[in-house]
Formats: sequence, C-alpha cells, structure tokens
Amino acid sequence: MKNIHVLAIPYPAQGHVIPLMEASRCFTNSGLMVTFVNTEFIHKRVMSAGSEMDCPRDLMRMVSIPDGMEPCDDRSDIGKLTKTMFQLMPTKLEELINDINKDDEDKITCIVADYYMGWVVRVARKMGIRLASFCPSSAAVSAVIMSVQKLMDDEVINCNGVPMQDKMIQLSNSMPFMDPRNFIWACVGDSTTNKIIFDYVVLDGKEAAEAADHIICNSTMELEPGAFALFPKLLPIGPLLATNRSARQVAHFWNEDSTCLAWLDQQPVCSVIYLAFGSFTVFDQRQFEELALGLEDTKRPFLWVVRPGTSGSMDYVYPTGYMDRIGTHGKMVSWAPQQEVLNHPSVACFMSHCGWNSTMEGVSNGIPFLCWPYFADQFFNKTYICDIWKTGVGLKKDDTGIVTREEIKSKVEQLLDNDIIKENALNLQEKVMDCVRAGNSSNKNLNKFIDWVKEENEHARVNETSKLMNE
Ligand code: UDP
Repeated sequence: MKNIHVLAIPYPAQGHVIPLMEASRCFTNSGLMVTFVNTEFIHKRVMSAGSEMDCPRDLMRMVSIPDGMEPCDDRSDIGKLTKTMFQLMPTKLEELINDINKDDEDKITCIVADYYMGWVVRVARKMGIRLASFCPSSAAVSAVIMSVQKLMDDEVINCNGVPMQDKMIQLSNSMPFMDPRNFIWACVGDSTTNKIIFDYVVLDGKEAAEAADHIICNSTMELEPGAFALFPKLLPIGPLLATNRSARQVAHFWNEDSTCLAWLDQQPVCSVIYLAFGSFTVFDQRQFEELALGLEDTKRPFLWVVRPGTSGSMDYVYPTGYMDRIGTHGKMVSWAPQQEVLNHPSVACFMSHCGWNSTMEGVSNGIPFLCWPYFADQFFNKTYICDIWKTGVGLKKDDTGIVTREEIKSKVEQLLDNDIIKENALNLQEKVMDCVRAGNSSNKNLNKFIDWVKEENEHARVNETSKLMNE
C-alpha cells in the first residue's frame, strides 16, 4: 500500500530541529511516514549525541544533505551559513526527492518546511509537491514576517529591513506593541548578517508562507490570540512537547547530563533556580563571573547549564574558590534534559534567554521566568512573558552592559516573593495544556492538518482508480 509520506526539513539550529521533530512525532503517531532532512553537519551531531528515536524506523527516516560549507567552517556565522545553504540546498533537496520518488510506494506526499527555509517553496513548486510551513517561533514572529510589505509601505522599515522610526508599533489592535529594533532580522548580528537574514530568511519566508497551504506553529490560541486573529492561516498545534507523549526529548545536539535529576530529587520542593540559555547564547568572562557570584549571593540551590565553549571560544573560568564554596548547593551541567528539569517539583523559577522553545516549555510547566534575552525574537518573547502574560520579570543591564550580581539577587527575591506571578504562571499552564487535550484547539488543528496531508493520497488513489477504469 502507498505510504503517506511527509518530508520535514528544519533550519539547522537546535531550537528549530527539536520542535519540528516533535511535530514529526505527532505525524508518525497518526501513521504518517516522515523523512526528516537535516544538514549533514547537524545529522552527525544528532546521531552522535545518541538521543534515541522512540519511534519505529519504518515510520521515521533520518537523512541528510550538505549545507554547502566546509566541515571546519564556523557555522555560528549564521549569515554565511544561511547564504551558503540557500544557494546549494535546493539542488540537493531536489536530488533527494527524486531518489525517494523512484519507489512508487514511498513518493513524497507533502513537504513541511521550516519557516526559515523559505527556499523550499521553489523546490516544492518545481516538483509539484504540496507545501506546509512550520513556524518554530511565536506566531507573532510569523505575523511580522507576513506583514513585511506593509511595514515597508508604512515606512516602519526601509527596503533593507532597517527600522526607520524610533517608536513602538502594533500589527493590529489586539496584538502587543513591538519595538521594530527587535524584529528578528534587525537584531541577529552585525548589519551584514541582518541584511542576509532579511533578504533570504524573511523575504523567502514570506513567499513560502503565502504559497503554503498551511502554516503550523508551536504555539496555542490562548497565548497569542491577536496574531491568530490577524492571520487565520496560522494553525497553532502546540505546545509541542516530548512530555505530552510521556517521552524524552529527541534530536539533541549535545549529550544530556541526567545526573541533575537525582540532584534535583535531593532539593526541597520549589527551591531551585534553573538557568539555561539555549544553544546560541554566549557570555563574556566578566558577565559569567558576575552571574556566578549573583547566584551564590541568592543563597538558594541552583542548577546551571554551562554549555561547553563553541569552537574558537575559551571555556569559562569560575571565580577563585567558587566550586569549594558552592559545594553541592549548586550543580552545573553542560546540557540538561530541560523538559524533565522544568517538570521537576524542586524547580522554583527559570532564568532563561527566552528562546521560544524554552518559553513554551517553561509556560507548559507553570514556571515563573527571570528573563535575560540575548538576540532575535527573544526580546519580543520577553515582552510576552513580562508584560502580557505577567509570568516573569526581566533582568536589567547596568550602564556598562552587565547584569550585576546585585540585580540577579534582587530579581530572584522579587520573583520568588511574588505570589501573583506564581499564580499567573499556574493559570497559564492550565490553559495552555488544555489546548492539546482531545477535541481542544491545538488537538483539532493537528487533526485538521493531518487530514489535509492524507487528502493528497486520497486524491491520488481516486485518480489512479479512474485512470485504471478508463484503460
Ligand atoms: N535544551 C535542552 N537542554 C539544555 C538547554 C536547552 O534540552 O540544557 C533545549 C530546550 O529544551 C529547547 C531547546 O534546547 O527545546 C532550545 O531552544 P530555544 O528556542 O529555547 O533556544 P535556542 O537554542 O534556539 O536559542
């Protein structure tokens, strides 16, 4: 029998691979077959980090295509990576699909492409394959990208995406105010990187979003009603969490250190500060030390994810005597099983860079946030947390650009003494988790999407039958 076969392709970054893999796991749970296409570089990392695929191999295939860069090239230069990928990957993807389609039973039914891989629309069009977009960031970010022409017409940004006004804007009356300086393409890196992201990711992403039949998002109606009202084509199917299916997170780039779960078991309920800043954030040594000392000053237990230095950068050095003073009061790991950590009763709050996945995971577990955004959409996610949902507080930098130890201590105390924020976080958790229950909004949208994927095969089957009858 012919398989219903989805090809899923994420942007090669941790915060994109994990949620698209979770969406793909929802597809395989409904009997669809998925070919998950990573770049070769990411494929090797995922495979060597050894996260087990909890799904039958005949339903989930992990494959790879080159990203166009040399093995030793610096992939943290996202401008260069993006430009190179957008040039080489279309040909490679086409070759891969032609190869898969040689087997009539396995032909690709549709492509689910990351919103940030807009070039895929041209491959889909050329090969006559239906396309859906997957948005790993907030629906608000998708809404901004889809509004980019209007933003240019209104002179909020110029034709290179550079903000032209120093004032907050609203995409609609029901959406939060946004600072144009925080649009993803305006704060990813230097002006060259920002321009590449605008030209490739944003403009192609907009074209793909318009061409796609559906745009599925890792969000919920409850969290972003304004964005979903403005663009009804956006279908929230989140929160996409491994814990929703009682499984561990898959597709990690680093080996997770699970010893922190046993350490958490030893800590009092609701006592621990959990700190993790995703896969990109980098601190300089001075900020790193200040953070270490601020944590010490709180006199609370803490679990801190200190990612090993990426290539070229040095590993961090702790303040003199720090480890002896901290003892077992604090625990550092290089990569945590984050969803399990956030689900642990000992965790009191989450100091986070506000990446969208971390935001969704914190919200889904009813955890109050200490927000420390680093780049791209994280500044706007902080706005959601602090100003709209009111489930966290922000950490402020001083005049020299440092978040001081005094600021850390004072904000931790402010957050943990605030019962209203805790209550808001628990209420929001309840609403958000309700969305994935059978018959509720995210669950309905997911089923609607899966029905759409299956429709194609139904059409093909009817066409084939009528062809046979006419012969
Ligand atoms: N993560 C993890 N362990 C860690 C740190 C992060 O499993 O120690 C996961 C986290 O659960 C999330 C993803 O990595 O799913 C990071 O995505 P996010 O959007 O929060 O941040 P990004 O890495 O894109 O900046």
